[in-house]
Amino acid sequence: MTVTSADIAANAPAGFFEKAPLERYVPPAKPSLVGLSRAELAEALAAIGVPEKQRKMRVQQLWHWLYVRGAQKFEEMTNVSRELHAQLDAHFTLARPEVVAEQVSVDGTRKWLLRLPGEHAGENPHEVECVYIPEADRGTLCLSSQVGCTLTCTFCHTGTQRLVRNLTPGEIVGQIMIARDRLGDWPGHERAQGAGLPTEGDRFVTNIVMMGMGEPLYNFEAVRDALLVIADGEGLSISKRRITLSTSGVVPMIARAGEEIGVMLAVSLHATTDTLRNELVPLNRKYPIRELLDACRNYPGLSNARRITFEYVMLKGVNDSDADAKALVRLLKGIPAKINLIPFNPWPGTRYECSDWERIEQFSEIVFNAGYASPVRTPRGRDILAACG
Ligand code: SAH
Ligand code: SF4
Repeated sequence: MTVTSADIAANAPAGFFEKAPLERYVPPAKPSLVGLSRAELAEALAAIGVPEKQRKMRVQQLWHWLYVRGAQKFEEMTNVSRELHAQLDAHFTLARPEVVAEQVSVDGTRKWLLRLPGEHAGENPHEVECVYIPEADRGTLCLSSQVGCTLTCTFCHTGTQRLVRNLTPGEIVGQIMIARDRLGDWPGHERAQGAGLPTEGDRFVTNIVMMGMGEPLYNFEAVRDALLVIADGEGLSISKRRITLSTSGVVPMIARAGEEIGVMLAVSLHATTDTLRNELVPLNRKYPIRELLDACRNYPGLSNARRITFEYVMLKGVNDSDADAKALVRLLKGIPAKINLIPFNPWPGTRYECSDWERIEQFSEIVFNAGYASPVRTPRGRDILAACG
């Protein structure tokens, strides 16, 4: 039997260290085609009476207009008949999630606040963030997988939010559509101008990280379906090597992620002992470090060319000593790994502080001398509160 992310989340001891997912997604009367797979597009066409012998060709056309050209209106689809435009228009939209705010940092980082429909009429709408981080030779888009998060990592602001709802594949794919819309990153569109945008290559969005709000492996099916659409070489075309999924350590779903999605894996380790990790990442009480690292060793496709990234947040006086750095290196021995040191990004009410810069450098040096490239993730977009957490 295949275990689903819903089973795993449902078997969590309620109120212990996880919150129950509250909200369901209620589809609008006129659904959007954004995020649908080829098979789902074929079903949508069947539902409005497109004859079977035409469907394959029509799916190809829709796929191209949706994911290569970024069409926002059916009438842009010039090789689709007027009659079909009208039919599509009567039943579907090409809507992306609603953008309620856009902020651009002095370093070029952009953050979009998206509003998603809630379950009940009149309730407060749900909001998630999507962040674009440009560098000279690439542009990385950080996507959210859930509104809030059922987990309660003590250093993470998202973990303190009460409301939780899984995003649909359309809402996950919709985030990249929005980024490309706003950046003019579709063929033939006017490209955005501004500080910090990539100067190499012909695309602005080249890499994806599932590192926004939520635990992607607790919304496995939607994340998988969305990432397969995003990685499709005839569509949005972001190769799997350029997509990284970050998990806090949902051990039973790690093998499935490798087999069914096949993207790069990042693991939020943050501590080298179970005692400390139980406190920082309470999910560790269920899936302790040893089990987590075993799942990493067995990650399908793992090799020196395809390493797992271990994320380690630098918390002053908590996990940042020389002894911690040495323990980290010992722990990861034998696993093809990269280590990513993340300066803690403080938020109002947090009990933690970020380690001093000299401490981070010292820590990084120990890791580097053990043979790991240990880039310290420079905080980006701090002026628009776009950094992690
Ligand atoms: N839920 C997933 C992915 C989203 S969080 C996970 O936990 O891996 C992405 C990364 O940001 C994780 O490594 C997480 O531990 C880290 N993070 C969360 N809050 C942070 C904060 N306030 N400062 C720095 N990193 C943080
Ligand atoms: Fe959820 Fe990740 Fe934040 Fe933990 S760090 S609460 S898993 S989003």
